[in-house]
Amino acid sequence: MLGHMSVSVSVLASGSRGNCALVESSSTRILVDAGISCREIFKRLKAVGHNRDSLSAILITHEHSDHVDGLLTLTKKLNIPVFITGATHQVWSRSVRDATGERPQTGRIEFFSAGRSFQIGDIAVTPFTIPHDAADPVGFTFHSQGIKIGLATDLGYMPASVCDHLRRCDVLLLESNHDLEMLRVGPYPWSVKQRVMSRVGHLSNTALADFFATKYDGSASYIVLAHLSEQNNHPEVARREAEAALDGRRTLLLNRVMLAAQAEPMQAICL
Ligand SMILES: [Zn+2]
Ligand SMILES: [Zn+2]
Repeated sequence: MLGHMSVSVSVLASGSRGNCALVESSSTRILVDAGISCREIFKRLKAVGHNRDSLSAILITHEHSDHVDGLLTLTKKLNIPVFITGATHQVWSRSVRDATGERPQTGRIEFFSAGRSFQIGDIAVTPFTIPHDAADPVGFTFHSQGIKIGLATDLGYMPASVCDHLRRCDVLLLESNHDLEMLRVGPYPWSVKQRVMSRVGHLSNTALADFFATKYDGSASYIVLAHLSEQNNHPEVARREAEAALDGRRTLLLNRVMLAAQAEPMQAICL
């Protein structure tokens, strides 16, 4: 890559069996969610060229297990702050206590609130509320060195407030969870199908395509389709629907569509 790399994004894992991403500037590295085992996080960090000691902080979107499974072990091994909302922390620490019988011994916890920006090193983080069936779920935008990254997975629909936060992003990581027809005829029990399709469930390929076609400002160099269901979606189905909706706006430099995977890290995006 020509020039000096300033900001990059790596998705270490994405999907209902675990989510974890890495946002970095030249001086700061933030792990977003820890939904795979600590061991697997360290392995995948290494695969994208980093060691565990280079992390600056961990940031949590919500308490569902596919976002926090490795968190307790990770905090025991790394002495770095965990940024989390008060409500999310309360539910998470209770669930850890129920499982182990003791209060989790975590390092430094830093509480944040949706709507209030804060700084981690030279990365400005803005958390915003997303519609999802968790205690206090959030998406994030990250600003550093003139680059803006937006991340919103696990949301039932795209409210106007979320669309506003996602304006003028250079990279967008967005949920493309399921194909509606595959979900409808698929193996999930009806109650689970209803939960996934609800306003606090997960975003379908079609709902994301609708965002691209109507609300999206077209500003991103890269669009990463994330949190794909392994049962109710297929990477090429998700890609086709997103690309069709982006239609005339895809160029060599804008709106390149990438797919985040469950089993292996995605190639890092460097800006
Ligand atoms: Zn969730
Ligand atoms: Zn999730």
